[in-house]
Amino acid sequence: MYATLLADARFHDLLLAFDHDLAEAARAEGCACGGRLHSARYRRKPRGRPCRLGPEHDWRLSFCCAVDGCRARKTPPSLRFLGRKVYLAATVVLIAILRHGPTQARMERLAQVVGVDRRTIARWRAWWREVFTATRFWAVARAAFLPPIDETQLPGALIERFSGDVQDRLIALLRFLGPITGGVRMRAF
Ligand SMILES: [Zn+2]
Repeated sequence: MYATLLADARFHDLLLAFDHDLAEAARAEGCACGGRLHSARYRRKPRGRPCRLGPEHDWRLSFCCAVDGCRARKTPPSLRFLGRKVYLAATVVLIAILRHGPTQARMERLAQVVGVDRRTIARWRAWWREVFTATRFWAVARAAFLPPIDETQLPGALIERFSGDVQDRLIALLRFLGPITGGVRMRAF
């Protein structure tokens, strides 16, 4: 089940490992000016984690150009942090999925475990329907899905299109969202 995944430290370690891979790829690319990138990670302590994790989980991996006069920041995509949202990306996705249909009781239990109130859940729902669907990322990405995704059923309608077990699907969806997780200005939650 999705809820057990969130409580599993190994799942979070896996997300962290993916983030390190994405960060390495971004560092290897270097800055747009041709400069080398230095680590400029910053502290984030996301809410919505029902298990204890080490301090290495509390950093958003990010880089800064080493060239004087440039110093541009480059923040790679992440499977853990969804833009500036204060909750863990996996939590934002899962609560919104369980919000629909017969799984509402499970959603309420999960929301209680991770400490998400009703108003936050309502805001996430609005985010999926109004903010996410208005991104340029989604305007391009949705064309790849046939039949088209029912936008009123996001993100549940999206996760169903990925294959594998629940962990595979969730990771595939978090990876899919990668382009909107780094450096892009998003409404904070
Ligand atoms: Zn640069």
